[in-house]
Amino acid sequence: MSTIFKKIIDKEIPADIVYEDDLCLAFRDIDPKAPTHILIIPKKEIPSMAEASQDDEGLLGHLLVTASRIAKDQGISDSGYRLVANTNNQGGQEVYHLHIHLLGGRQMTWPPG
Ligand code: AMP
Repeated sequence: MSTIFKKIIDKEIPADIVYEDDLCLAFRDIDPKAPTHILIIPKKEIPSMAEASQDDEGLLGHLLVTASRIAKDQGISDSGYRLVANTNNQGGQEVYHLHIHLLGGRQMTWPPG
């Protein structure tokens, strides 16, 4: 079944897109949990990290390097940020299209909730 993120990839619904290339898309979270809250998603439909395979090694690396680049572009690289991939039920995942949250612009706490 198509997720809301697939609809964003296909431009069927709008999003505040900050970066796009052939492999991935990054857009602002609609309900931000930090001053900067961006989601980086692969265009390939992988439901969660739990379904990632060896074939996805390069793609997942690309998502992380892209997150690092976006953090620099957003001016939060030196101050710091957090990357999160909520996975399945106990990970708190709500949208079953793999995504990395890029959160920054405030002090993060540990442990996470
Ligand atoms: P997760 O709980 O890790 O699955 O995170 C899903 C995230 O997607 C949440 O932070 C939501 O606020 C965000 N979200 C849901 N729908 C949209 C949308 N249409 N545009 C942007 N972000 C969204």
